[in-house]
Amino acid sequence: MELTEVASSEDIRREFKLKQRQNHERLALGKSIALFPLQRYYLLPTPWLSKWKTYITASGKSAVEPETLNIIIDLLKCEKHSRLLERPPGLTYKRSTILQKSPNTDRLTIITENDWKLFCEDWSGTEERGISAEIEVSNCMEDDTVGVSAEMPISEEHMNTHDEINGETESKQFMVKTRPEVCEDCIGERESCELMTKLNYCNEDICVCFVRGKEPPRSILEASGNILEPDRRTSKRSRKTSFGNSINLNVSGSTSIYQLKMMIWESFGVVKENQILHKGSRVIDGESATLADMNIFPGDILWVTDSEIHENRDIADELSDHKMDVQQAEEGFRGTLLTSNISSQVV
Ligand SMILES: [Zn+2]
Repeated sequence: MELTEVASSEDIRREFKLKQRQNHERLALGKSIALFPLQRYYLLPTPWLSKWKTYITASGKSAVEPETLNIIIDLLKCEKHSRLLERPPGLTYKRSTILQKSPNTDRLTIITENDWKLFCEDWSGTEERGISAEIEVSNCMEDDTVGVSAEMPISEEHMNTHDEINGETESKQFMVKTRPEVCEDCIGERESCELMTKLNYCNEDICVCFVRGKEPPRSILEASGNILEPDRRTSKRSRKTSFGNSINLNVSGSTSIYQLKMMIWESFGVVKENQILHKGSRVIDGESATLADMNIFPGDILWVTDSEIHENRDIADELSDHKMDVQQAEEGFRGTLLTSNISSQVV
């Protein structure tokens, strides 16, 4: 290639990027758009948009070009029903404006029809194949005759929003309705697969806090319960500092509650019968169940109290008792519990 050709192809690329930034100014700057009912929007995968943003802001050829849109959009649809494989983003209502609630963490981003059309031209998309979206207002208020149109401003009272989360108002009756519609069947299937994978872990740490008395300090209860909501996970630092009497235990999804209680016995000297084990406010019970059965994930924080009902005894007795049981048990059961790392730890 001649030097002039190289130069001109770079010029073209630079010009293209500039045009992209101008055509999609708000998206390029990462600004959210105000949404109105009865208008048509489109949904794009957020990772594609960030790739695009990186590409159009990078100079030279370092940045990777985003994929073509038809490929990306097809991946959003299930093969079985050609419906949407992602749930649409949640909305929020702030200062009389409807906005996408968590544009940074949502898997999909709402864009305007104009953005979609221009993207289709530049990134090989077919307009009709896009995932279109409309803001739907559901009338779940007491007076159910509030019609909202694009022209009509929506007053704060029309929002049936009394549960405050993080100081901002939850807008429950504004919803994104998509076409094609969301495929709950396929999403459910995928989520249970993901859960299975997540529970099939090996040699990971969980944290167990020993709590005196019946009630744990708020910090422990919150940290223990909050893990269920990944969005509001406490930072690693606050996790480390706030619990005095705690240990990390190395476990797997297949570890039984019996094995876990033996580890706790060993660490805190509380006989397993006296241990009341919790994750959040839920009591973890049933010795033969596994951590996976109980939805205990790596990084979880459990807390345990001492019921003090049963008399204390030496952990070695339990282990030798257990050995006898297992020896008497049928061949098929042999070793299932004793192959655990407990017996080797306590000698
Ligand atoms: Zn489907």
